[in-house]
Amino acid sequence: MIDLPKYTKELGNLIAGSENILIISHINPDGDAIGSQLALYHFLKSINKNVGMISPNYLQEFLKWMDGSEIIEVFIRDRKKCLKLISDADLIIIVDFNQPGRMGEAEEAILNSKAKKVMIDHHLEPGSFCDIVISDPSKCATAELVFEIVKTLNSGNIFTGRSFAECIYVGIVTDTGNFEHGSYSADTFRLAALLLESGIRKEIVLNLVYNNFSADRMKLLGYALYQRMTVIPEHKTAYIYLTKEDIKNFNHVKGDTEGFVNYPLSIKGIRFSVLFIEKEGFIKLSFRSKGSFPTNKLAAKYFGGGGHLNASGGEYHDSLQNTINYFLDVLNENSPKSEEDI
Ligand code: 5GP
Ligand code: MN
Repeated sequence: MIDLPKYTKELGNLIAGSENILIISHINPDGDAIGSQLALYHFLKSINKNVGMISPNYLQEFLKWMDGSEIIEVFIRDRKKCLKLISDADLIIIVDFNQPGRMGEAEEAILNSKAKKVMIDHHLEPGSFCDIVISDPSKCATAELVFEIVKTLNSGNIFTGRSFAECIYVGIVTDTGNFEHGSYSADTFRLAALLLESGIRKEIVLNLVYNNFSADRMKLLGYALYQRMTVIPEHKTAYIYLTKEDIKNFNHVKGDTEGFVNYPLSIKGIRFSVLFIEKEGFIKLSFRSKGSFPTNKLAAKYFGGGGHLNASGGEYHDSLQNTINYFLDVLNENSPKSEEDI
């Protein structure tokens, strides 16, 4: 357990002494990254701080409705503006990641910046590139941690405001797959109850986050499950692959394949699910598991990646077929077959 009050006090001192604060989320930001970033932004603005925000690359459509998202600068779109934000910052807060490589093309400028750096995150094994590391892998979402930090910074009082509460809610809802997986706890539900009481628009938020896809995306999902899924019962594993051609045929837009990897886990007896997506020059892999099978260890050891126990990812620089063959070899050596069914 981290000493949250101690580190939060140190963060509070840094905030008090900073003129310009910058918050950066990770590349391909998800709901938790943007939710945490914006929640922190809303709090810092309420105490009259000068706050900038950067995302290494573009936000997906389903995140663009959140209050303040229009203020987030995209590094690859507006390099000059972002470099100025970085060089002007006295304090840089990084949210929802713990390795410098997750900052994409902003990495070098951030690492070279003179600003103090604070990490707020819930992934395992944080890197050592920040002055203060507030890391708690027991949290289901970074947003859950942000909520607690803000409460402490706010003299122990719950920070109110619908924008703030909705951002925290989005982080929790997306990182737990709407309270289906991940390390949510009784505390998570207590927090969700508090957020509901603070006036978040629950139905609207869920519709904006989940029921906001194109018909093509739905068809691609159907195709992926019907034509591209292989079930390997002896390893309690199922995988899906999508070729560049498949992606093109269904007019794919960024984010369309988000969540596909979760579907095979609803097959009885399946404990491990993998999604292979053919990209330009490499294959992107997403891993999900149920129970104690450590997908992040497999991702780190064989696919240059990482993440959480039950949700991780990596890459492999070879053809789709060779990557699948390599994965099948890896699976023979690292099978979740002894995992208990629940
Ligand atoms: P997704 O499968 O949704 O792309 O990623 C799930 C989680 O795995 C992410 O939240 C992130 O923690 C981790 N992850 C995905 N891809 C990579 C990767 O290439 N490298 C590392 N270190 N982590 C990854
Ligand atoms: Mn997260």
